[in-house]
Amino acid sequence: MSKPVVATTSLAGCFGCHMSLLDIDERILPLIELVEFNKSPVDDIKKFTKHCDIGLIEGGCCNSENVHVLRDFRKNCNILVSVGECAIMGGLPAMRNGIPIKECLRVAYLTGPSTTANTDHLIPNDPELPMMLDKVYPCQEIVKIDYYLPGCPPRADLIWETLLSLIKGKPVKLPYEVIKFD
Ligand code: SF4
Repeated sequence: MSKPVVATTSLAGCFGCHMSLLDIDERILPLIELVEFNKSPVDDIKKFTKHCDIGLIEGGCCNSENVHVLRDFRKNCNILVSVGECAIMGGLPAMRNGIPIKECLRVAYLTGPSTTANTDHLIPNDPELPMMLDKVYPCQEIVKIDYYLPGCPPRADLIWETLLSLIKGKPVKLPYEVIKFD
């Protein structure tokens, strides 16, 4: 019998959510028995080679490339899961949302403390670069998202239990301690 197929990606994220997935430690062995990975940094497959059952999304959308990848995941995955606060709320990258984009670029490339190496005083403008969006968007504002795993990052156990439930076609149950914020 064919295994469920899982794809993962990192949009505007720090890869911490992927690290949390790897934090399932030795359970990675039964996971590989249970599922097949497709497009993912886990196996370095860059493009979808088949339709997938589950897509795990880390990070929100800060540029046109993120939007393109997210829409591609929606098209190619039956179930999409937003993994972590960046995917759900924009996270740390969304701290720029109250600041005009022009000002963000000026500080990042021209006047900020880490710009001394930019001796040409240029803001990158190659047409190949993805366009920055006016703000960082959570994934559910771009495509339909089926499940949300809170946390920064969500605990490995939560990712593991959620994957098991989805693989077995059972309802995803989030324990109280992961959905309270006090
Ligand atoms: S939710 Fe936290 S761990 Fe995950 S990508 Fe965002 S900052 Fe990194």
